[in-house]
Amino acid sequence: MQLRIPGPTPCPDDVLKAMGRQMINHRSGEFAAILQQVTGRLKEFFQTRNDVYILTSSGTGAMEAAVVNTLSPGDRVLCVSVGAFGDRFGDIAQAFGADVKRLNFEWGQAADPNALRRALQDDAAIKAVLLTHNETSTGVTNDLEVLARVVREHEKLLLVDAISSLGSIDLPVDAWGCDVVTTGSQKGWMVPPGLAMVSVSPKAWQAYEKAKMPRYYFDFGKARRFLERKETPWTPAVSVFFAMSVALENLAREGLPNIVARHMRVAQRARENVKALGLKLFPANEAYASNTVTAINPPPGIEAKALTKLLREEYQVVLAGGQGKLDGKIFRIGHLGWVSEADMDEVAAALKSALARLGYKGG
Ligand SMILES: *Cc1c(COP(=O)(O)O)cnc(C)c1O
Repeated sequence: MQLRIPGPTPCPDDVLKAMGRQMINHRSGEFAAILQQVTGRLKEFFQTRNDVYILTSSGTGAMEAAVVNTLSPGDRVLCVSVGAFGDRFGDIAQAFGADVKRLNFEWGQAADPNALRRALQDDAAIKAVLLTHNETSTGVTNDLEVLARVVREHEKLLLVDAISSLGSIDLPVDAWGCDVVTTGSQKGWMVPPGLAMVSVSPKAWQAYEKAKMPRYYFDFGKARRFLERKETPWTPAVSVFFAMSVALENLAREGLPNIVARHMRVAQRARENVKALGLKLFPANEAYASNTVTAINPPPGIEAKALTKLLREEYQVVLAGGQGKLDGKIFRIGHLGWVSEADMDEVAAALKSALARLGYKGG
């Protein structure tokens, strides 16, 4: 089985084996050592000296945590969206009473830093900017370095969804000045779902002191107090911690620069393969095509859903469909985490054969 969706991603055997370990007391020296090791390693991958917390939830929980710990109801927030996950960030802020202004770009496009600058110049009341680093629904990576610079020029708080990029695509959190950055265990980390990781800058802590949105489970203050004694506030997903502990040592051995370079190469191969089949990438400009997920237009006359069904049932290759308004319109290849160029060649071979069976004459 080739599971090639943008999360959950396949896990190496040693990571899976770690998951099967017997439980331990989460308020013990043994767990404290794991929490300390994992938190330390994550800071290396986030390239940050900020605080890093590990929440037991999926990635969306960390997005909610970013919002409720830094904002108050009525705060004006600018949500920059290039797809389904960008929209979700704004929806979360709205659900907790923020006054959400939306800066939407056409799906398939990247966010335009000049449009962001204009939006911030036009409205001095904006307190925070919500940004997606890598938009998984469209296969587009925003130029976060440049966008973050614009946000800093205006001295706004910057909350970043880096769920499908951190640990796979370079994101030096401190160098780029990102205040809260979120990711999830089931994406590039080669770990099963269950943990979300989040970094919190000193500026975010200042915002925390004034933030009045309701929060309890995801309260950063509680996470900070408990981490001081090497614990989490609530019972953590202990098994996923075991997996994360092993996976991060593997990743550290490979080294972040090598991991980033590998994702670049694998993505390049994925794009070359689909173009060689005569297919069109969904992103309007290949320069911002994502290195963790490739979104593709099916050829005219072929249904994306028929194609992914055939690949799943006859070739054991599992690809993702489109999300939201792209449902049935595109299909996506996930290539983050434990993935190689050879995997992309296997996907392409299956794709070629499946397309031919559906009557495709191109390529
Ligand atoms: C996967 C993903 C999320 C969150 O997903 P969960 O299912 O809550 O883990 C958020 N944003 C992006 C960009 C993602 O890829």
